[in-house]
Amino acid sequence: MDIIHLLPDSVANQIAAGEVIQRPASCLKELVENSLDAGAKRIQVIVRDAGRTLLQVIDDGSGMSEMDARLAFERHATSKIREAQDLFSLRTMGFRGEALASICAVAQVEMTTRRAEDETGTLLEIHGSDVVRQEPCVCPVGTNIKVSNLFFNVPVRRKFLKSDQTELRNLLTEFYHIVLVYPKVNFTFVHNDEIVLELPAGTEKQRIEAVFGNPKRNVFTSAFVDVNTETEIVSIRGFVVKPENATRKAEQYFFVNGRYMRHGYFLKAVQTAYSGMLPNDYQPSFFIYFDINPEAIDVNIHPTKTEIKFADEQTIFQILLAAVREALGKFAMPTSLDFDAPNIEMPLPGEKPVSRPQVAVDPNYNPFHTRSVIYPDKAPQKWETLYEGLKTTEYNIPNTDYEVHSADILQPENIENCSLWQYGGKYILVPSPNGIMLVNQHRAHVAILRSQYIEQLGLMQGAKQQLLFPEVLEMTQDDMVLMKQILPDLHAIGFDIEQLSPDSYSIQGVPSQLADQSPLPVLQHIIAKVRERGADTQQEWREQIAQSMAESTAIPYGKTLTETEMRDLLKRLTHLPQYRRTADGKIIVSLMTDEEINRRF
Ligand code: ADP
Ligand code: MG
Repeated sequence: MDIIHLLPDSVANQIAAGEVIQRPASCLKELVENSLDAGAKRIQVIVRDAGRTLLQVIDDGSGMSEMDARLAFERHATSKIREAQDLFSLRTMGFRGEALASICAVAQVEMTTRRAEDETGTLLEIHGSDVVRQEPCVCPVGTNIKVSNLFFNVPVRRKFLKSDQTELRNLLTEFYHIVLVYPKVNFTFVHNDEIVLELPAGTEKQRIEAVFGNPKRNVFTSAFVDVNTETEIVSIRGFVVKPENATRKAEQYFFVNGRYMRHGYFLKAVQTAYSGMLPNDYQPSFFIYFDINPEAIDVNIHPTKTEIKFADEQTIFQILLAAVREALGKFAMPTSLDFDAPNIEMPLPGEKPVSRPQVAVDPNYNPFHTRSVIYPDKAPQKWETLYEGLKTTEYNIPNTDYEVHSADILQPENIENCSLWQYGGKYILVPSPNGIMLVNQHRAHVAILRSQYIEQLGLMQGAKQQLLFPEVLEMTQDDMVLMKQILPDLHAIGFDIEQLSPDSYSIQGVPSQLADQSPLPVLQHIIAKVRERGADTQQEWREQIAQSMAESTAIPYGKTLTETEMRDLLKRLTHLPQYRRTADGKIIVSLMTDEEINRRF
């Protein structure tokens, strides 16, 4: 008996749908991109239950003829390319003709559409690839697609969806990626009957401001500088944050030819341009738009991928680096690009960003000019800014030879009686039977505090201190969603926070450990961590909250410690189940062996 048979279309479509439509956010992306491809000037997104029950996109674009409306839902039906050749000169967002076929395979879709030249429109209803209704209808010019009960026929996928909060955040993230490149299009985003974002048509700046800033205070205009470079290979425009306005929570966006992209290598270029200018943990915010000949990039890797390959990444790296530096006023306008400049640190594409001594530091910039690192006896105002240099020049020693292996070396008994020294405001030196142990004081303290905070979160008993003057934390809509999710845990650790308006929280009390630190950067750091790590379960985000709180409250580099303080720190460290490395694998305790020391003489 023959055993091979063709799958029915509906099954094949369902399988393929898994590739393109993974969650409500990917469905939203496809629908909105179609509207944009159809030349819409006004796009409304209506969502219910984070897209689980309803995802609706209404546009005023070209609309479709009766025939096209029906064809649109067939696999590989597209009006955007005709031959393989066209793939290399893509300017539209979609081109595979897979999205609608995929969506209607896993949802109940109702669409009305009309072209300007037609008197009547077409109504089409499709349930799991089956057309259940098609008839003429009265409707405005444009297209209105309603996707209901996504994954109704794929229970596994439905189960795989995350909490509503997370899916809504994903929807908004996807939405941002699009609205930031189409400032001339009017967008509205409605969730459960509430208008979440209303974005009138305007300039790029106004759009960014409308999404991330507070238009009333003009935050954006004063906090950012323009980037602008035209070369034969690429044109780069956009905005980068002034170093003094950088925060711990950065908004970092690259776009190429009207498409959002991630690009670790180009990110490195921007970071390099800022080297030596930002405090520890701070990241530059930027919105950078590349315009490049479509033939020099390859977007056809995967429909859901946001990574894009460029033909000449190293040259673009240099151009980008120079452009951002110029914008930051760090260097005079370069008349020509000097590719042999010795001071440009340029990793190769694909190279992992490793911490190592920076060679691209502005020679005139000295974060330590006000004081000595070795004798930090006068209390500085801002530790982190004074010691930022230390962080960037920190050696990560991957070689495990330097790591302390035998657990019995750093024993509470040993610590009790030996002398301890502090070196460089950074390390505690501990004599041990086999050599000298070096303990990174900041990392040690972070590890100790992290475990304390995790415990506090479990017991819900963070100590609180009321603020004399409440502070206001303004946030973007996606962070508001995240905030709601982690709020009970922020309360548990000692924050007293209440929602003040649709886009702000008022902070009335802080964990007592924060003492007189401003709570805003600390909260921004927490949000950035939770977001970055994609912490999705309570345990995951609690770990991020604990880690972030620990980093904010640990003794900084440069702080002089008394012998008692050092001893106390080491004792607490040895009580941790895992004290030799941090949670993210960095070395806390390192041994310089007798042998190594003797070899030097
Ligand atoms: P693709 O966008 O890759 O061509 P889709 O499955 O997303 O494939 O859409 C199929 C076709 O349906 C498009 O090529 C376009 O002609 C038509 N279409 C889809 N959405 C719209 C819309 N909102 N307005 C006008 N035409 C649309
Ligand atoms: Mg499409």
